[in-house]
Amino acid sequence: MKHNFNAGPSILPKEVFEEASRAILNFNNTGLSILEIGHRTPLFQAVMDEAISLTKELMQLDDDHSVLFLHGGATTQFFQVPMNLLNENETAAYLDCGVWGSKAIKEAKLFGQVNVVATSKDKSYTYIPKDYTVPSDAKYFHYTTNNTIEGTEMLEIPETNVPLIADMSSDILSHVVDFNRFALIYAGAQKNIGAAGVNLVVLRKDILGKVNRKLPGMMDYRQHIEAGSMLNTPPTFGLYFAGLVFKWLKARGGLTAIGERNRAKAEALYGYIDSSGFYRNPVSKDARSWMNVPFTLAKPDLDKTFLTEANAAGLTNLEGHRSVGGMRASIYNAMPIEGVQALIGFMKDFQRRHG
Ligand code: PMP
Repeated sequence: MKHNFNAGPSILPKEVFEEASRAILNFNNTGLSILEIGHRTPLFQAVMDEAISLTKELMQLDDDHSVLFLHGGATTQFFQVPMNLLNENETAAYLDCGVWGSKAIKEAKLFGQVNVVATSKDKSYTYIPKDYTVPSDAKYFHYTTNNTIEGTEMLEIPETNVPLIADMSSDILSHVVDFNRFALIYAGAQKNIGAAGVNLVVLRKDILGKVNRKLPGMMDYRQHIEAGSMLNTPPTFGLYFAGLVFKWLKARGGLTAIGERNRAKAEALYGYIDSSGFYRNPVSKDARSWMNVPFTLAKPDLDKTFLTEANAAGLTNLEGHRSVGGMRASIYNAMPIEGVQALIGFMKDFQRRHG
């Protein structure tokens, strides 16, 4: 039995892998593979409609919000957002809390003015700044809800009266959030949604159509909304797979239930790390992520041994991001509590033998 702690592409539900593999050979008893069905057929339209309606249901979205499934990963959203929303002479506010947020800032500067209202770079992004104000004339305020690399998460929505925009790539659908408070949300699929290559974008139409630059069709949210995410061939298999993951999540009690499970997993792991006297999590306690848990060993020269032994014990992909070092356990929705318990058991044993 393997437990995969990779940050992304990451662990996904086994039941979904099984159903998707059947659909690759024979989708819904059509005698056709899901991979060879035309995207403009009623068969595929039903897949798209279901993925959209499950997204709306799980996120409890109101009618002002549209759901899009686009290509290009979250990295495309780093520039598609300012391209659609920010004129050259206007200012957008950004919070800089990690590698991904700072990449979004860099891209936004290509299109308009950027006001970085706060940064935690001074302490290697190990905390979330609290004392900052978002100017009321900012076009929007952008932040990253979960910093995948550094292991911080903002579980509370910041107070502001300007349109809120969030990169939720690594904690989307992991707990209850009032998603309707956001003007735009985006998330790459490869953590809690499914296969890499699909990008979920949820947005309020009233923020669109206000920039004076010309937009290529594929970059224009309004055209995607009009075309129902079928401006061109959508990532069909990824969409089908996302629909299965959404059904899996719904059958397990939706965001309330998964949020409780994610909290329990995170509390167990942080609780053990804090009490161990051997492992250490570098993140400020009030900013700890429920999804990505970085930790270091008291003896860094044991890092390689830890990884080799963990791997042999079926605990894979625990190596920290190259920019941070140490270890990182990503414990997304599909990671069962048993996986976290197995990791804790291994860590205890490792400490006993090497500590
Ligand atoms: N934002 C966050 C928070 C991420 O974790 C990642 C990828 N790990 C990205 C953006 C970039 O996503 P993509 O590779 O899909 O462009």
